[in-house]
Amino acid sequence: MIALARETGVELAIRSGGHSIPGHSTTEGGLVLDLGDLNGLEIDVEDRTAWVGGGVTTGRYTNAAAEHGLATPFGDTGSVGIGGLTLGGGVGFLVRKHGLTIDDVLAAEVVTADGRHLRVDADSHPDLFWAIRGGGGNFGVATRFQLRLHELDGIVGGMLILPATADTVYGFMAEAEAAPEELSAIANVMPAPPMPFLPAEQHGRLVIFALLAYAGEADAGERAVAPFRALAEPVADMVRPIRYPELFVGPPDEGDYHPVAVARTMYVDSIDRSAAETIVEQLEASTAMMAVTQLRMLGGAAARVPVDATAYAHRQSRIMVNVAALFGAPQEVPEHERWVVGLADALRQDDTGAYVNFLGDEGEERIRAAYPGPTWDRLVEIKRRYDPTNLFRLNQNIPPR
Ligand SMILES: Cc1cc2nc3c(=O)[nH]c(=O)nc-3n(C[C@H](O)[C@H](O)[C@H](O)COP(=O)(O)OP(=O)(O)OC[C@H]3O[C@@H](n4cnc5c(N)ncnc54)[C@H](O)[C@@H]3O)c2cc1C
Repeated sequence: MIALARETGVELAIRSGGHSIPGHSTTEGGLVLDLGDLNGLEIDVEDRTAWVGGGVTTGRYTNAAAEHGLATPFGDTGSVGIGGLTLGGGVGFLVRKHGLTIDDVLAAEVVTADGRHLRVDADSHPDLFWAIRGGGGNFGVATRFQLRLHELDGIVGGMLILPATADTVYGFMAEAEAAPEELSAIANVMPAPPMPFLPAEQHGRLVIFALLAYAGEADAGERAVAPFRALAEPVADMVRPIRYPELFVGPPDEGDYHPVAVARTMYVDSIDRSAAETIVEQLEASTAMMAVTQLRMLGGAAARVPVDATAYAHRQSRIMVNVAALFGAPQEVPEHERWVVGLADALRQDDTGAYVNFLGDEGEERIRAAYPGPTWDRLVEIKRRYDPTNLFRLNQNIPPR
């Protein structure tokens, strides 16, 4: 199919888990290379490594690895594909303890634009090995990855839902920063969804819908979680010793729920009380069906890897912020986009970076924000070498010029 696309010039989409936010894994009138059949998964328990096909979901891998008390860090949703998540970086529940997904990529097999099937690692095509760890699908089709696994028997984790006020949002992020590295926290500040385990009077009220994961010993985990619980009387508290895969709570089938969404991603250095107040006020003011500000504390193991070691260049960024509005009708886009951009602008500090895997269709300037300074120049140089005609262009594109 790569040869066909090369020879005809027809647009080529690559699909792993199909979760591309700007819809890059499909095309109108072009070719879709669906990697679903690349579903091999071989776990070497002794060696603590795995070879996994480029079409496997992160959930399937996580479940299989957990059978052996092992894990590789991915994101927060099991239906996301290994392909897209890994090539863009991979930020999830173990980011502070074990780093990004790319920090556990030991090797990959990549089919390049000219049809070569390359083994890529620190010694073989090291330039390409650097580029595919953060540079997305710009350089070829990753048919297999070799990933490192970590021992992870169980975690203390789960959902903690607290009322959202300026004080609790500020306090939550202060605790997330002060917490030991074993603890990674994702806080979704949003109206409480009508979930059956939440009292009806809470539905629609602003909450911190947090997902906590302490990757370590249970007693220490309970101690690490205590300050979060103490911020306010929890609306729901499901944090307990669990098997790691139990954290992946997303609905298996979204049925007829297909909202339109607009979102912005950014990094900030801190969420002070005034930023927390802005988040709460703006969420209260949103007219969208659902509005959310997601805060992810970074640092830890991810920050100890040198900035130029991979194409993910935001190792020193402290907090990832994703602002999103979900609504029913496409004609409402301008109204909700104004709200999303307004809140993102109000929260912006000195960090101008962006995480490529959360970017929408936002233009070249934003792609450059994902790959600042020398990272962009190095990626362009490698793109020129491996994909000079920009065959792999349906992505957050790094043109070969
Ligand atoms: C509900 C949801 C939750 C998410 N949570 C997180 C999270 O917690 N952490 C995080 O880091 N990200 C998260 N993301 C973002 C996610 O990492 C990206 O959207 C990612 O690109 C999706 O990967 P995929 O394989 O499912 O998508 P796809 O749509 O299949 O692929 C996306 C793009 O990646 C490229 N690509 C994919 N596989 C290959 C391959 N094997 N070879 C070459 N190119 C390839 C292609 O350009 C493709 O268009 C989330 C996204 C969603 C929708």
